[in-house]
Amino acid sequence: MSLDSLVVWAAHSGAGERVELVCDEHPDPATGHRAWRPVRAPGCVADLPLHVPLELLALGVAEVAVRRDGCGSPEALDGWLVRCTTLAEMADRELAEPPDGRRRRDVLSASAMPTVERRSLFGLGRREPRPARAWSPDVRATEHQRLRAALRHLGAHSTDAGATDGVGWRLSADGCRASGQCVTACPNDALALVHSAGRDGVQRSELRFDPSLCNACGRCIEFCDAAALSAPGPATFNDLALATPSPIATVATRVCERCRAAFAPSDKDASLCPTCAARRANPFGSALPPEALARLQRAQGNSAD
Ligand code: SF4
Repeated sequence: MSLDSLVVWAAHSGAGERVELVCDEHPDPATGHRAWRPVRAPGCVADLPLHVPLELLALGVAEVAVRRDGCGSPEALDGWLVRCTTLAEMADRELAEPPDGRRRRDVLSASAMPTVERRSLFGLGRREPRPARAWSPDVRATEHQRLRAALRHLGAHSTDAGATDGVGWRLSADGCRASGQCVTACPNDALALVHSAGRDGVQRSELRFDPSLCNACGRCIEFCDAAALSAPGPATFNDLALATPSPIATVATRVCERCRAAFAPSDKDASLCPTCAARRANPFGSALPPEALARLQRAQGNSAD
C-alpha cells in the first residue's frame, strides 16, 4: 500500500510534530500522550520500509516513535527497530519510546493522511499549510534509493553498528572483459564503464561500482557472459550513507573499428569487437554467441524446474 500521503503530510504539516507509529491491529491506539500523533500503519509496523522513519525525520518531524504494545509480531518488530535505530543513530537521531498517557487522540492512517489541518478548518492555529520543504523524497524511487537519499540528506556518518548491518552487495570482478553487459543490466546505475587513453597509447576501461546503489538484485551477475562478477559480501549501512563509485576492474581495451565500442582484444591483432567479428565472419547468419546460448539454456532449464 502506498504511503505517499504520509510523505505529503510530513512535508507540508509535519514539521515539529511527534509521530507515534502503531500497528494496524493495535486494539486502542487512540489512548496515549497528548503531544504525540498516533499514525496507524497499513499492517504491522515491522513491514514498513526502512526509509519511512528516516524520511519523516528528514522532512522535519521532530520525533518518531514506535508503539511496541499491541503488536502481534514482537520479534519481527524488535528486529525492524534495531535496524531503524542503527540508521537513525548514523544521522545522530534516535527513535523515541512514546511516553505513557491517557489522553484520547485522533488516530491518523498512514495511507490516508489529512491534507488540511482540522484546526485550520475552524480558524484555529495556522490557516495555510506550510510550504513544501526544499527536500522531498522521490516517491517513484525504489525503497533502496529512498533510504539512501534520506540518510544522505540527514548527513549520516559511519558508525560501528552501521558496519555490521546492511542492504545490497559488495561486488568484485575477476576476468572482466569490459563488455558492459552488467552496466546495461543494472536497474540502479550502480555500475559504470569509464574509458581513458593511457600514456602508452593503450585504452583502459575501468568498471566502477557504487555499493550504495546496489540492492542485490543479481542481474549483473546473471547477465555477465564472462562470469566475471561475484558478490563476496554485503554492502553495509555505512556504504549506503557514504560510499562512492570505485574501480573493481581495469581492463586494457581497444576501440572496435566498426562499431566504435570498447572491447578487450583476445589477440594482439584483433580490430573488431566479438560481435562485429562474428557478423563479419557470418554476415547472413543469426547465430547467438556461445555464452548467450548457454545463458538461454540455463534460463530455460530454470523455468522448466
Ligand atoms: S546486484 Fe543488481 S543493483 Fe547490484 S550492481 Fe548488480 S544489477 Fe546493479
